[in-house]
Amino acid sequence: MKIAVLALQGAFEEHRQMLEQLGVESVLIRNLNDWQQHFDGLILPGGESTAMMRVMKDEALFEPIRDAIKDGLPVFGTCAGMILLDDKHLGCMDITVKRNAYGRQLGSFCIEHEVNQIGIVPMVFIRAPYIERCGSGVEVLSTLDNHIVAARQDHMLACSFHPELTADTRIHKYWLSTIYEKR
Ligand code: GLN
Repeated sequence: MKIAVLALQGAFEEHRQMLEQLGVESVLIRNLNDWQQHFDGLILPGGESTAMMRVMKDEALFEPIRDAIKDGLPVFGTCAGMILLDDKHLGCMDITVKRNAYGRQLGSFCIEHEVNQIGIVPMVFIRAPYIERCGSGVEVLSTLDNHIVAARQDHMLACSFHPELTADTRIHKYWLSTIYEKR
């Protein structure tokens, strides 16, 4: 098992470390050349979605990433990574995401909260988005104050918060288990 982590900007290193802790090999994707190798899944990290969109397009990675996900490449998007997966960006998940949805006052916060199939996990929100609309093929995994903060659609998992910034590996393990199931 080898997992690619999009490393154009943002919290990619923390994802790489979490994979290392789980004994999973990872590769950082910075350009089209890195993209050519074989891997079993892709992580889109948190950071700044507008910057990531721009660099993805500059590096000619936008179409290859979109097409690979649409063809079934397992993907996990956290925070800005969730924004990238929505209908206004890569258009892979049938979700509409509201950016910076918690406003300035509540820009960043940390709580413990339930995720279906996983249990109560620590959630770190940093200028976080939430899902404001999802299609019928989307399974809602966690709702906080009536807003969707984690969801899965087939081979695609997205969450508003940053599991890679905590010591809790269960969400990564859950996503990896969905890849093993498919193999
Ligand atoms: N506010 C960022 C954006 O809109 C997301 C924040 C994050 O990834 N922590 O892209």
